[in-house]
Amino acid sequence: MSIRRLPSDLINRIAAGEVVERPASALKELVENSLDAGASNVAVKLSAGGLERVEVVDDGCGMTRDDMALSLERHATSKLPDAAIEDVVSFGFRGEALPSIASVSRFTMESRTGDSDGWKLVVDHGEKIEEGPAALPPGTRIKVEGLFDKVPARRKFLRTPRSEYTASLDVMRRLAMAAPQVGFTLDHDGRRVIEVQPQSPPERVAALLNPQLQKNGLGLDTQRGDMRMTGVVSLPTFNRGMGDQQYLFVNGRPVKDRLLVGALRGAYRDLLARDRHPIAALFLDLPTHEVDINVHPAKTEVRFRDAQGVRGLIVGGIRRALEEAGHLSANREQLAQPAAWQVEPVGTTSSPNPERPVEAAAYARPDDLAAHPGQPSVWEARAAFAAPPQARAEIAEAPPPQAAQYPLGAARGQVAATYIVAEAEDGLVIVDQHAAHERLVLERMRAAREGEEIKRQPLLIPETVEMDETDCERLEEAADELAQLGLEIERFGPGAMLVRATPAPLGQKVKAPQLLADIAAELAELGSSVTLRDRIDLVAGTMACHGSVRAGRILSVHEMNALLREMEATPHSGQCNHGRPTWVKLAHGDIEKLFGRK
Ligand code: ADP
Ligand code: MG
Repeated sequence: MSIRRLPSDLINRIAAGEVVERPASALKELVENSLDAGASNVAVKLSAGGLERVEVVDDGCGMTRDDMALSLERHATSKLPDAAIEDVVSFGFRGEALPSIASVSRFTMESRTGDSDGWKLVVDHGEKIEEGPAALPPGTRIKVEGLFDKVPARRKFLRTPRSEYTASLDVMRRLAMAAPQVGFTLDHDGRRVIEVQPQSPPERVAALLNPQLQKNGLGLDTQRGDMRMTGVVSLPTFNRGMGDQQYLFVNGRPVKDRLLVGALRGAYRDLLARDRHPIAALFLDLPTHEVDINVHPAKTEVRFRDAQGVRGLIVGGIRRALEEAGHLSANREQLAQPAAWQVEPVGTTSSPNPERPVEAAAYARPDDLAAHPGQPSVWEARAAFAAPPQARAEIAEAPPPQAAQYPLGAARGQVAATYIVAEAEDGLVIVDQHAAHERLVLERMRAAREGEEIKRQPLLIPETVEMDETDCERLEEAADELAQLGLEIERFGPGAMLVRATPAPLGQKVKAPQLLADIAAELAELGSSVTLRDRIDLVAGTMACHGSVRAGRILSVHEMNALLREMEATPHSGQCNHGRPTWVKLAHGDIEKLFGRK
Protein backbone atom coordinates (compact mmCIF):
# COMPACT_ATOMS: atom_id res chain seq x y z
CA MET A 1 0.00 0.00 0.00
CA SER A 2 1.36 3.41 -0.86
CA ILE A 3 0.63 6.51 1.13
CA ARG A 4 -0.95 9.43 -0.70
CA ARG A 5 -1.71 12.97 0.31
CA LEU A 6 -5.45 13.73 0.35
CA PRO A 7 -6.55 16.18 -2.32
CA SER A 8 -7.22 19.59 -0.75
CA ASP A 9 -10.93 19.69 -1.61
CA LEU A 10 -11.37 16.42 0.23
CA ILE A 11 -9.46 17.76 3.24
CA ASN A 12 -11.74 20.79 3.25
CA ARG A 13 -14.79 18.64 3.09
CA ILE A 14 -13.63 16.55 6.01
CA ALA A 15 -12.91 19.71 7.96
CA ALA A 16 -16.35 20.99 7.04
CA GLY A 17 -17.79 18.01 8.85
CA GLU A 18 -16.07 19.20 11.99
CA VAL A 19 -16.50 22.94 11.79
CA VAL A 20 -19.80 23.29 9.96
CA GLU A 21 -22.41 20.69 10.65
CA ARG A 22 -25.45 22.73 9.77
CA PRO A 23 -26.46 26.22 8.69
CA ALA A 24 -26.24 27.49 12.25
CA SER A 25 -22.59 26.54 12.54
CA ALA A 26 -21.75 28.24 9.21
CA LEU A 27 -23.59 31.27 10.50
CA LYS A 28 -21.60 31.18 13.70
CA GLU A 29 -18.28 31.15 11.84
CA LEU A 30 -19.32 33.99 9.54
CA VAL A 31 -20.58 36.26 12.30
CA GLU A 32 -17.50 35.55 14.40
CA ASN A 33 -15.37 36.60 11.44
CA SER A 34 -17.38 39.82 11.21
CA LEU A 35 -16.79 40.52 14.89
CA ASP A 36 -13.09 39.73 14.52
CA ALA A 37 -13.05 42.19 11.61
CA GLY A 38 -14.18 44.93 14.01
CA ALA A 39 -17.65 45.34 12.56
CA SER A 40 -20.00 47.72 14.34
CA ASN A 41 -23.03 46.39 12.50
CA VAL A 42 -23.82 42.85 11.40
CA ALA A 43 -26.87 42.07 9.28
CA VAL A 44 -27.93 38.46 8.81
CA LYS A 45 -30.49 37.02 6.42
CA LEU A 46 -31.65 33.43 6.39
CA SER A 47 -33.91 31.56 3.99
CA ALA A 48 -35.57 28.30 4.99
CA GLY A 49 -33.73 28.14 8.28
CA GLY A 50 -30.45 28.76 6.44
CA LEU A 51 -30.78 25.60 4.35
CA GLU A 52 -31.36 27.67 1.22
CA ARG A 53 -29.31 30.70 2.12
CA VAL A 54 -27.22 32.23 4.91
CA GLU A 55 -26.09 35.77 4.27
CA VAL A 56 -23.93 37.89 6.53
CA VAL A 57 -23.11 41.52 5.80
CA ASP A 58 -20.73 43.52 7.98
CA ASP A 59 -19.06 46.92 8.02
CA GLY A 60 -15.76 45.59 9.34
CA CYS A 61 -12.25 46.07 7.96
CA GLY A 62 -12.94 44.18 4.72
CA MET A 63 -10.39 42.33 2.60
CA THR A 64 -8.27 43.16 -0.41
CA ARG A 65 -8.57 41.03 -3.51
CA ASP A 66 -5.43 39.10 -2.57
CA ASP A 67 -6.59 38.50 0.96
CA MET A 68 -9.91 37.22 -0.30
CA ALA A 69 -8.17 34.56 -2.35
CA LEU A 70 -5.95 33.71 0.59
CA SER A 71 -8.87 33.50 3.02
CA LEU A 72 -10.15 30.49 1.09
CA GLU A 73 -6.95 28.59 1.54
CA ARG A 74 -6.71 26.17 4.36
CA HIS A 75 -5.00 27.37 7.52
CA ALA A 76 -4.72 30.88 6.11
CA THR A 77 -5.52 33.35 8.84
CA SER A 78 -4.81 36.99 9.59
CA LYS A 79 -5.14 36.23 13.27
CA LEU A 80 -1.91 34.35 13.79
CA PRO A 81 -1.03 34.56 17.43
CA ASP A 82 2.32 36.22 17.99
CA ALA A 83 2.13 35.19 21.59
CA ALA A 84 1.13 31.82 23.04
CA ILE A 85 -1.80 30.24 21.24
CA GLU A 86 -3.73 30.16 24.53
CA ASP A 87 -3.76 33.95 24.62
CA VAL A 88 -5.64 34.45 21.37
CA VAL A 89 -8.52 36.83 21.93
CA SER A 90 -10.13 36.72 18.49
CA PHE A 91 -12.89 34.21 17.80
CA GLY A 92 -11.04 32.52 14.94
CA PHE A 93 -7.41 31.71 14.24
CA ARG A 94 -7.46 28.27 12.69
CA GLY A 95 -8.20 29.45 9.19
CA GLU A 96 -10.53 26.55 8.46
CA ALA A 97 -14.00 27.99 8.32
CA LEU A 98 -14.15 29.74 4.97
CA PRO A 99 -12.48 26.99 2.90
CA SER A 100 -14.64 24.39 4.65
CA ILE A 101 -17.89 26.22 4.02
CA ALA A 102 -16.92 27.03 0.43
CA SER A 103 -16.24 23.35 -0.24
CA VAL A 104 -19.78 22.26 0.63
CA SER A 105 -21.93 25.07 -0.78
CA ARG A 106 -22.23 27.72 -3.39
CA PHE A 107 -20.26 30.50 -1.78
CA THR A 108 -20.29 34.17 -2.78
CA MET A 109 -17.93 36.62 -1.12
CA GLU A 110 -17.77 40.35 -1.77
CA SER A 111 -15.45 42.58 0.16
CA ARG A 112 -13.90 46.00 0.20
CA THR A 113 -11.40 47.65 2.53
CA GLY A 114 -11.38 51.36 3.36
CA ASP A 115 -8.86 52.12 0.63
CA SER A 116 -9.39 49.56 -2.10
CA ASP A 117 -12.17 48.80 -4.57
CA GLY A 118 -14.64 46.05 -3.97
CA TRP A 119 -14.13 42.56 -5.36
CA LYS A 120 -16.35 39.55 -5.76
CA LEU A 121 -15.53 35.87 -5.71
CA VAL A 122 -17.91 32.98 -6.36
CA VAL A 123 -16.92 29.45 -5.40
CA ASP A 124 -19.03 26.38 -6.15
CA HIS A 125 -18.19 23.41 -3.95
CA GLY A 126 -14.53 24.35 -3.73
CA GLU A 127 -14.17 25.50 -7.32
CA LYS A 128 -13.82 29.14 -8.25
CA ILE A 129 -16.41 29.85 -10.95
CA GLU A 130 -16.55 33.60 -11.12
CA GLU A 131 -14.68 36.71 -10.02
CA GLY A 132 -14.68 40.42 -10.75
CA PRO A 133 -15.18 43.93 -9.39
CA ALA A 134 -18.09 44.56 -7.06
CA ALA A 135 -19.78 47.68 -5.78
CA LEU A 136 -20.32 47.74 -2.03
CA PRO A 137 -19.49 49.93 0.96
CA PRO A 138 -16.39 49.01 3.01
CA GLY A 139 -16.93 45.69 4.70
CA THR A 140 -17.76 42.14 3.71
CA ARG A 141 -20.79 40.34 2.38
CA ILE A 142 -20.85 36.56 2.33
CA LYS A 143 -23.63 34.40 0.96
CA VAL A 144 -23.80 30.64 1.48
CA GLU A 145 -26.40 28.81 -0.62
CA GLY A 146 -27.46 25.18 -0.64
CA LEU A 147 -25.21 24.06 2.18
CA PHE A 148 -24.52 20.30 1.91
CA ASP A 149 -26.89 20.04 -1.07
CA LYS A 150 -24.33 17.95 -2.89
CA VAL A 151 -23.02 16.08 0.12
CA PRO A 152 -25.80 13.56 0.81
CA ALA A 153 -23.93 11.99 3.73
CA ARG A 154 -24.13 15.33 5.53
CA ARG A 155 -27.39 16.51 4.12
CA LYS A 156 -29.27 13.67 5.79
CA PHE A 157 -28.29 14.97 9.22
CA LEU A 158 -29.98 18.28 8.59
CA ARG A 159 -33.40 18.78 10.03
CA THR A 160 -36.46 20.78 9.12
CA PRO A 161 -36.10 24.47 8.23
CA ARG A 162 -37.88 25.19 11.49
CA SER A 163 -35.36 23.47 13.74
CA GLU A 164 -32.41 24.72 11.68
CA TYR A 165 -33.82 28.19 12.17
CA THR A 166 -34.11 27.67 15.92
CA ALA A 167 -30.45 26.65 16.04
CA SER A 168 -29.46 29.77 14.09
CA LEU A 169 -31.51 31.98 16.36
CA ASP A 170 -29.68 30.53 19.34
CA VAL A 171 -26.32 31.27 17.69
CA MET A 172 -27.38 34.83 16.96
CA ARG A 173 -28.55 35.40 20.51
CA ARG A 174 -25.32 34.10 21.99
CA LEU A 175 -23.11 36.19 19.74
CA ALA A 176 -25.25 39.30 20.10
CA MET A 177 -25.08 38.96 23.88
CA ALA A 178 -21.31 38.48 23.71
CA ALA A 179 -20.94 41.68 21.69
CA PRO A 180 -23.42 44.24 23.05
CA GLN A 181 -21.37 47.09 21.55
CA VAL A 182 -22.29 45.85 18.06
CA GLY A 183 -25.64 46.34 16.34
CA PHE A 184 -27.31 43.23 14.88
CA THR A 185 -30.26 42.39 12.69
CA LEU A 186 -31.62 39.00 11.78
CA ASP A 187 -34.18 38.42 9.05
CA HIS A 188 -35.73 35.02 8.47
CA ASP A 189 -37.66 34.48 5.24
CA GLY A 190 -38.13 38.22 4.98
CA ARG A 191 -39.30 38.68 8.55
CA ARG A 192 -37.27 40.83 10.97
CA VAL A 193 -36.58 38.70 14.05
CA ILE A 194 -33.81 40.55 15.84
CA GLU A 195 -32.92 44.21 15.72
CA VAL A 196 -30.61 45.59 18.38
CA GLN A 197 -28.57 48.77 18.58
CA PRO A 198 -25.33 49.00 20.56
CA GLN A 199 -26.31 48.91 24.23
CA SER A 200 -25.14 47.95 27.73
CA PRO A 201 -24.72 44.23 28.46
CA PRO A 202 -27.78 43.95 30.75
CA GLU A 203 -29.91 45.88 28.26
CA ARG A 204 -28.73 43.59 25.49
CA VAL A 205 -29.53 40.45 27.47
CA ALA A 206 -33.00 41.73 28.29
CA ALA A 207 -33.62 42.84 24.70
CA LEU A 208 -32.76 39.40 23.37
CA LEU A 209 -34.29 37.18 26.01
CA ASN A 210 -37.15 38.99 27.68
CA PRO A 211 -37.73 42.71 28.13
CA GLN A 212 -39.24 42.01 31.55
CA LEU A 213 -35.82 40.91 32.74
CA GLN A 214 -35.03 44.60 33.17
CA LYS A 215 -37.38 44.64 36.14
CA ASN A 216 -37.26 41.02 37.18
CA GLY A 217 -33.55 40.45 36.89
CA LEU A 218 -30.59 40.95 39.15
CA GLY A 219 -27.28 42.38 38.00
CA LEU A 220 -24.20 40.46 39.06
CA ASP A 221 -20.64 41.57 39.60
CA THR A 222 -18.41 39.37 41.73
CA GLN A 223 -14.72 38.86 41.94
CA ARG A 224 -12.88 35.87 43.28
CA GLY A 225 -9.09 35.89 43.02
CA ASP A 226 -8.39 36.83 39.43
CA MET A 227 -11.76 35.59 38.18
CA ARG A 228 -14.69 37.91 37.70
CA MET A 229 -18.31 37.23 36.97
CA THR A 230 -20.78 39.79 35.65
CA GLY A 231 -24.18 39.24 34.12
CA VAL A 232 -27.87 39.02 34.75
CA VAL A 233 -30.04 36.37 36.39
CA SER A 234 -33.79 36.30 36.86
CA LEU A 235 -35.48 36.57 40.23
CA PRO A 236 -36.61 33.13 41.39
CA THR A 237 -40.20 34.15 40.82
CA PHE A 238 -39.44 34.94 37.19
CA ASN A 239 -38.70 31.45 35.98
CA ARG A 240 -39.27 29.20 32.99
CA GLY A 241 -40.40 25.65 32.33
CA MET A 242 -37.23 25.01 30.34
CA GLY A 243 -33.58 25.68 31.00
CA ASP A 244 -33.15 27.03 27.50
CA GLN A 245 -32.37 30.61 28.39
CA GLN A 246 -29.13 30.05 30.24
CA TYR A 247 -26.04 31.42 28.65
CA LEU A 248 -22.39 31.32 29.61
CA PHE A 249 -19.65 33.49 28.15
CA VAL A 250 -16.01 32.95 28.91
CA ASN A 251 -13.69 35.82 28.09
CA GLY A 252 -16.28 37.25 25.74
CA ARG A 253 -16.90 33.98 23.92
CA PRO A 254 -20.20 32.10 24.08
CA VAL A 255 -19.59 28.59 25.33
CA LYS A 256 -21.66 25.60 26.32
CA ASP A 257 -20.67 23.88 29.47
CA ARG A 258 -22.54 21.51 31.71
CA LEU A 259 -21.02 23.21 34.69
CA LEU A 260 -23.47 26.07 34.16
CA VAL A 261 -26.54 23.91 34.62
CA GLY A 262 -25.27 22.45 37.89
CA ALA A 263 -24.08 25.79 39.22
CA LEU A 264 -27.41 27.48 38.51
CA ARG A 265 -29.22 24.62 40.14
CA GLY A 266 -27.02 25.06 43.20
CA ALA A 267 -27.56 28.81 43.26
CA TYR A 268 -31.35 28.49 43.13
CA ARG A 269 -31.61 25.43 45.32
CA ASP A 270 -34.75 25.66 47.45
CA LEU A 271 -35.86 28.77 45.57
CA LEU A 272 -37.17 26.91 42.55
CA ALA A 273 -39.07 23.71 41.97
CA ARG A 274 -37.08 21.10 40.10
CA ASP A 275 -39.00 21.62 36.89
CA ARG A 276 -38.59 25.39 36.87
CA HIS A 277 -35.48 27.15 35.57
CA PRO A 278 -34.01 30.61 35.93
CA ILE A 279 -32.97 32.81 33.04
CA ALA A 280 -29.26 33.59 33.18
CA ALA A 281 -26.53 35.21 31.15
CA LEU A 282 -23.20 34.95 32.94
CA PHE A 283 -19.98 36.50 31.74
CA LEU A 284 -16.81 35.07 33.20
CA ASP A 285 -13.50 36.78 32.78
CA LEU A 286 -10.50 34.82 33.84
CA PRO A 287 -6.82 34.67 32.97
CA THR A 288 -6.28 32.73 29.76
CA HIS A 289 -4.18 30.10 31.53
CA GLU A 290 -7.21 29.23 33.68
CA VAL A 291 -9.22 28.03 30.72
CA ASP A 292 -8.81 25.99 27.56
CA ILE A 293 -11.30 27.14 24.97
CA ASN A 294 -9.91 25.12 22.10
CA VAL A 295 -10.95 21.64 23.07
CA HIS A 296 -13.44 21.50 20.23
CA PRO A 297 -12.99 22.77 16.65
CA ALA A 298 -16.13 24.85 16.92
CA LYS A 299 -14.71 26.29 20.14
CA THR A 300 -17.96 26.04 22.04
CA GLU A 301 -16.67 23.85 24.83
CA VAL A 302 -14.29 24.89 27.53
CA ARG A 303 -12.13 23.23 30.07
CA PHE A 304 -11.58 25.09 33.31
CA ARG A 305 -8.38 24.44 35.20
CA ASP A 306 -10.24 25.07 38.46
CA ALA A 307 -13.81 23.97 37.76
CA GLN A 308 -14.69 23.91 41.46
CA GLY A 309 -13.49 27.48 41.84
CA VAL A 310 -15.57 28.59 38.86
CA ARG A 311 -18.61 26.82 40.23
CA GLY A 312 -18.07 28.46 43.59
CA LEU A 313 -17.81 31.88 41.97
CA ILE A 314 -21.09 31.37 40.11
CA VAL A 315 -23.06 29.87 42.99
CA GLY A 316 -21.68 32.30 45.56
CA GLY A 317 -22.14 35.37 43.35
CA ILE A 318 -25.75 34.56 42.49
CA ARG A 319 -26.59 33.54 46.06
CA ARG A 320 -25.30 36.84 47.36
CA ALA A 321 -27.25 38.84 44.80
CA LEU A 322 -30.43 36.95 45.69
CA GLU A 323 -29.72 37.49 49.35
CA GLU A 324 -29.29 41.22 48.83
CA ALA A 325 -32.54 41.33 46.90
CA GLY A 326 -33.96 39.97 50.15
CA HIS A 327 -37.63 39.29 50.25
CA LEU A 328 -38.01 40.96 46.92
CA SER A 329 -40.78 39.29 45.00
CA ALA A 330 -41.42 39.30 41.27
CA ASN A 331 -42.37 42.68 40.00
CA ARG A 332 -46.03 43.26 40.62
CA GLU A 333 -46.63 44.42 37.07
CA GLN A 334 -45.77 40.98 35.85
CA LEU A 335 -47.86 39.17 38.41
CA ALA A 336 -50.80 41.38 38.83
CA GLN A 337 -51.34 43.75 36.02
CA PRO A 338 -54.46 45.69 36.85
CA ALA A 339 -56.05 43.96 33.86
CA ALA A 340 -55.78 40.66 35.68
CA TRP A 341 -57.77 42.02 38.58
CA GLN A 342 -61.43 41.43 38.38
CA VAL A 343 -63.44 44.57 38.47
CA GLU A 344 -67.07 43.78 39.16
CA PRO A 345 -70.06 45.94 39.80
CA VAL A 346 -71.00 46.15 43.45
CA GLY A 347 -73.69 43.69 44.45
CA THR A 348 -72.76 40.67 42.32
CA THR A 349 -72.60 37.43 44.19
CA SER A 350 -68.89 37.12 44.16
CA SER A 351 -68.26 40.34 46.01
CA PRO A 352 -68.58 40.20 49.75
CA ASN A 353 -72.14 40.83 50.82
CA PRO A 354 -72.20 44.14 52.66
CA GLU A 355 -75.16 43.03 54.73
CA ARG A 356 -73.54 39.93 55.97
CA PRO A 357 -72.37 40.62 59.48
CA VAL A 358 -68.69 40.78 59.96
CA GLU A 359 -67.68 37.60 61.67
CA ALA A 360 -65.71 39.43 64.23
CA ALA A 361 -63.36 37.70 66.58
CA ALA A 362 -65.14 34.37 66.39
CA TYR A 363 -62.10 32.58 65.13
CA ALA A 364 -59.46 34.70 66.73
CA ARG A 365 -56.83 32.88 68.63
CA PRO A 366 -54.69 34.99 70.88
CA ASP A 367 -51.67 32.74 70.83
CA ASP A 368 -48.66 33.44 68.72
CA LEU A 369 -48.42 31.74 65.37
CA ALA A 370 -44.68 31.41 65.54
CA ALA A 371 -44.91 29.37 68.69
CA HIS A 372 -47.34 26.89 67.12
CA PRO A 373 -46.40 26.27 63.57
CA GLY A 374 -48.64 23.87 61.77
CA GLN A 375 -51.26 24.21 64.49
CA PRO A 376 -54.05 21.68 63.93
CA SER A 377 -57.44 21.20 63.28
CA VAL A 378 -60.38 22.90 64.96
CA TRP A 379 -59.65 25.95 62.92
CA GLU A 380 -59.38 24.03 59.72
CA ALA A 381 -62.51 22.09 60.48
CA ARG A 382 -64.45 25.24 61.11
CA ALA A 383 -63.14 26.82 58.01
CA ALA A 384 -64.53 23.91 56.06
CA PHE A 385 -68.03 24.66 57.34
CA ALA A 386 -67.86 28.36 56.78
CA ALA A 387 -70.15 29.27 53.93
CA PRO A 388 -68.65 30.89 50.88
CA PRO A 389 -67.69 33.57 50.21
CA GLN A 390 -65.06 33.20 52.86
CA ALA A 391 -64.02 36.81 52.85
CA ARG A 392 -63.89 38.07 56.35
CA ALA A 393 -62.78 41.22 58.05
CA GLU A 394 -61.99 41.46 61.66
CA ILE A 395 -61.97 44.64 63.64
CA ALA A 396 -58.36 44.81 64.57
CA GLU A 397 -57.36 46.57 67.69
CA ALA A 398 -55.94 49.82 66.34
CA PRO A 399 -52.63 48.80 64.86
CA PRO A 400 -49.55 50.36 66.36
CA PRO A 401 -49.12 53.74 64.67
CA GLN A 402 -46.08 52.64 62.70
CA ALA A 403 -47.75 49.50 61.38
CA ALA A 404 -48.16 51.04 57.97
CA GLN A 405 -44.45 51.71 57.94
CA TYR A 406 -43.68 48.00 57.80
CA PRO A 407 -42.85 46.93 54.27
CA LEU A 408 -45.65 44.38 54.28
CA GLY A 409 -48.00 46.59 56.25
CA ALA A 410 -50.67 45.81 58.84
CA ALA A 411 -53.05 42.88 58.37
CA ARG A 412 -56.58 43.96 57.59
CA GLY A 413 -58.25 40.65 56.94
CA GLN A 414 -58.21 37.27 55.31
CA VAL A 415 -59.78 36.24 52.03
CA ALA A 416 -60.95 32.73 51.15
CA ALA A 417 -59.13 31.54 54.25
CA THR A 418 -56.04 31.53 52.07
CA TYR A 419 -54.87 35.07 51.49
CA ILE A 420 -53.94 37.72 53.98
CA VAL A 421 -54.77 41.26 52.97
CA ALA A 422 -52.60 43.94 54.53
CA GLU A 423 -52.39 47.67 54.25
CA ALA A 424 -48.94 49.07 53.66
CA GLU A 425 -47.97 52.68 53.39
CA ASP A 426 -47.80 52.57 49.62
CA GLY A 427 -50.47 50.08 48.73
CA LEU A 428 -52.33 46.87 49.32
CA VAL A 429 -50.39 43.68 50.05
CA ILE A 430 -51.77 40.21 49.46
CA VAL A 431 -49.99 37.24 50.97
CA ASP A 432 -50.44 33.57 50.15
CA GLN A 433 -50.40 32.21 53.67
CA HIS A 434 -49.38 28.67 52.83
CA ALA A 435 -46.59 29.65 50.47
CA ALA A 436 -45.30 32.24 52.92
CA HIS A 437 -45.43 29.99 55.91
CA GLU A 438 -43.74 27.15 54.12
CA ARG A 439 -40.88 29.48 53.35
CA LEU A 440 -40.64 30.61 56.94
CA VAL A 441 -40.56 27.05 58.25
CA LEU A 442 -37.71 26.27 55.90
CA GLU A 443 -35.75 29.33 56.94
CA ARG A 444 -36.41 28.47 60.59
CA MET A 445 -35.09 24.99 60.02
CA ARG A 446 -32.04 26.46 58.40
CA ALA A 447 -31.42 28.95 61.15
CA ALA A 448 -31.86 26.23 63.73
CA ARG A 449 -29.33 24.11 61.92
CA GLU A 450 -26.57 26.70 61.97
CA GLY A 451 -24.20 25.28 64.52
CA GLU A 452 -26.25 22.53 66.04
CA GLU A 453 -28.85 20.02 65.08
CA ILE A 454 -32.50 20.82 64.73
CA LYS A 455 -34.64 20.03 67.76
CA ARG A 456 -36.50 16.74 67.59
CA GLN A 457 -40.02 16.07 68.59
CA PRO A 458 -39.98 12.48 69.91
CA LEU A 459 -43.04 10.39 69.13
CA LEU A 460 -44.69 8.74 72.12
CA ILE A 461 -45.14 5.62 70.11
CA PRO A 462 -42.65 5.23 67.24
CA GLU A 463 -44.48 5.00 63.94
CA THR A 464 -43.85 2.25 61.40
CA VAL A 465 -43.99 3.29 57.76
CA GLU A 466 -44.09 0.66 55.07
CA MET A 467 -42.22 1.52 51.91
CA ASP A 468 -40.63 -0.21 49.01
CA GLU A 469 -37.22 -1.61 49.56
CA THR A 470 -35.20 0.80 47.42
CA ASP A 471 -36.81 3.75 49.18
CA CYS A 472 -35.92 2.19 52.51
CA GLU A 473 -32.32 1.79 51.33
CA ARG A 474 -32.13 5.42 50.36
CA LEU A 475 -33.59 6.65 53.61
CA GLU A 476 -31.41 4.38 55.67
CA GLU A 477 -28.35 5.66 53.85
CA ALA A 478 -29.36 9.23 54.56
CA ALA A 479 -30.33 8.57 58.18
CA ASP A 480 -27.45 10.65 59.58
CA GLU A 481 -28.24 13.65 57.39
CA LEU A 482 -31.91 13.38 58.30
CA ALA A 483 -31.07 13.19 62.00
CA GLN A 484 -29.32 16.53 61.64
CA LEU A 485 -32.62 17.87 60.39
CA GLY A 486 -34.45 16.49 63.38
CA LEU A 487 -35.90 13.43 61.70
CA GLU A 488 -34.96 10.25 63.51
CA ILE A 489 -35.60 7.07 61.57
CA GLU A 490 -34.27 3.57 61.45
CA ARG A 491 -34.69 0.53 59.26
CA PHE A 492 -37.42 -1.81 60.40
CA GLY A 493 -37.19 -4.97 58.37
CA PRO A 494 -36.75 -5.07 54.60
CA GLY A 495 -39.80 -3.01 53.66
CA ALA A 496 -40.42 -0.60 56.52
CA MET A 497 -38.93 2.32 58.42
CA LEU A 498 -39.47 3.25 62.02
CA VAL A 499 -39.93 6.93 62.82
CA ARG A 500 -38.82 7.86 66.33
CA ALA A 501 -38.84 11.64 66.15
CA THR A 502 -39.84 14.39 63.71
CA PRO A 503 -38.31 17.86 63.33
CA ALA A 504 -39.75 20.17 65.99
CA PRO A 505 -40.19 23.16 63.65
CA LEU A 506 -42.69 21.12 61.63
CA GLY A 507 -45.11 20.99 64.51
CA GLN A 508 -47.06 18.02 65.77
CA LYS A 509 -49.24 17.34 62.83
CA VAL A 510 -46.70 15.95 60.41
CA LYS A 511 -47.83 12.86 58.59
CA ALA A 512 -44.85 10.56 58.73
CA PRO A 513 -45.72 8.31 55.76
CA GLN A 514 -46.07 11.23 53.34
CA LEU A 515 -43.02 12.93 54.72
CA LEU A 516 -40.88 9.83 54.25
CA ALA A 517 -42.26 9.16 50.79
CA ASP A 518 -41.48 12.70 49.68
CA ILE A 519 -37.98 12.59 51.11
CA ALA A 520 -37.30 9.25 49.46
CA ALA A 521 -38.44 10.68 46.13
CA GLU A 522 -36.26 13.70 46.64
CA LEU A 523 -33.23 11.56 47.46
CA ALA A 524 -33.84 9.33 44.44
CA GLU A 525 -33.90 12.32 42.19
CA LEU A 526 -30.87 14.02 43.64
CA GLY A 527 -28.72 10.91 43.41
CA SER A 528 -25.10 11.54 44.24
CA SER A 529 -24.77 14.50 41.89
CA VAL A 530 -25.40 16.99 44.65
CA THR A 531 -23.21 17.87 47.59
CA LEU A 532 -24.27 16.79 51.05
CA ARG A 533 -25.00 20.37 52.04
CA ASP A 534 -27.24 20.91 49.05
CA ARG A 535 -28.96 17.63 49.72
CA ILE A 536 -29.73 18.60 53.28
CA ASP A 537 -31.03 21.95 52.11
CA LEU A 538 -33.30 20.42 49.51
CA VAL A 539 -34.62 17.83 51.88
CA ALA A 540 -35.27 20.55 54.45
CA GLY A 541 -37.40 22.27 51.81
CA THR A 542 -39.43 19.12 51.31
CA MET A 543 -39.93 18.85 55.04
CA ALA A 544 -40.96 22.49 55.38
CA CYS A 545 -43.81 21.88 53.00
CA HIS A 546 -45.20 19.36 55.45
CA GLY A 547 -45.08 21.66 58.41
CA SER A 548 -46.74 24.77 57.14
CA VAL A 549 -50.04 26.47 57.58
CA ARG A 550 -52.41 25.16 54.95
CA ALA A 551 -54.50 27.25 52.72
CA GLY A 552 -57.99 27.16 54.19
CA ARG A 553 -57.00 27.78 57.74
CA ILE A 554 -58.52 30.80 59.43
CA LEU A 555 -55.96 33.08 61.05
CA SER A 556 -56.45 35.77 63.64
CA VAL A 557 -55.27 39.30 62.96
CA HIS A 558 -52.62 38.67 65.53
CA GLU A 559 -51.40 35.59 63.68
CA MET A 560 -51.49 37.38 60.39
CA ASN A 561 -49.38 40.23 61.69
CA ALA A 562 -46.95 37.79 63.25
CA LEU A 563 -46.60 36.11 59.87
CA LEU A 564 -46.01 39.42 58.10
CA ARG A 565 -43.37 40.52 60.62
CA GLU A 566 -41.59 37.21 60.37
CA MET A 567 -41.59 37.42 56.58
CA GLU A 568 -39.95 40.82 56.77
CA ALA A 569 -37.27 39.49 59.01
CA THR A 570 -36.57 36.39 56.96
CA PRO A 571 -34.25 36.18 53.97
CA HIS A 572 -35.76 34.91 50.71
CA SER A 573 -39.26 35.22 52.06
CA GLY A 574 -40.48 36.74 48.78
CA GLN A 575 -40.83 33.37 47.16
CA CYS A 576 -41.95 30.00 48.36
CA ASN A 577 -39.75 26.93 48.11
CA HIS A 578 -41.11 26.31 44.64
CA GLY A 579 -40.32 29.73 43.28
CA ARG A 580 -43.83 31.10 43.34
CA PRO A 581 -44.24 34.52 44.89
CA THR A 582 -45.46 34.57 48.48
CA TRP A 583 -46.91 38.03 48.22
CA VAL A 584 -47.84 40.71 45.73
CA LYS A 585 -48.46 44.38 46.14
CA LEU A 586 -50.99 46.58 44.42
CA ALA A 587 -49.66 50.11 44.71
CA HIS A 588 -51.96 53.05 45.40
CA GLY A 589 -51.34 54.26 41.86
CA ASP A 590 -52.55 50.92 40.48
CA ILE A 591 -55.68 51.04 42.60
CA GLU A 592 -56.41 54.51 41.35
CA LYS A 593 -56.05 53.27 37.79
CA LEU A 594 -58.52 50.48 38.49
CA PHE A 595 -61.10 53.03 39.49
CA GLY A 596 -60.32 55.28 36.59
CA ARG A 597 -59.06 58.01 38.87
CA LYS A 598 -55.84 58.30 36.93
P1 ADP B 1 -10.04 32.29 10.97
O1 ADP B 1 -11.22 33.12 11.39
O2 ADP B 1 -9.82 31.15 11.88
O3 ADP B 1 -8.82 33.10 10.72
P2 ADP B 1 -11.57 31.81 8.60
O4 ADP B 1 -11.52 30.74 7.58
O5 ADP B 1 -12.84 31.99 9.35
O6 ADP B 1 -10.38 31.59 9.59
O7 ADP B 1 -11.21 33.17 7.90
C1 ADP B 1 -9.99 33.29 7.21
C2 ADP B 1 -9.52 34.73 7.15
O8 ADP B 1 -10.37 35.48 6.29
C3 ADP B 1 -9.57 35.45 8.47
O9 ADP B 1 -8.39 35.24 9.23
C4 ADP B 1 -9.70 36.90 8.03
O10 ADP B 1 -8.46 37.47 7.75
C5 ADP B 1 -10.48 36.81 6.72
N1 ADP B 1 -11.90 37.11 6.90
C6 ADP B 1 -12.92 36.22 7.00
N2 ADP B 1 -14.10 36.83 7.15
C7 ADP B 1 -13.86 38.16 7.19
C8 ADP B 1 -14.67 39.33 7.31
N3 ADP B 1 -16.01 39.26 7.49
N4 ADP B 1 -14.06 40.55 7.28
C9 ADP B 1 -12.71 40.64 7.12
N5 ADP B 1 -11.90 39.57 6.99
C10 ADP B 1 -12.44 38.34 7.01
MG1 MG C 1 -13.16 32.46 11.42
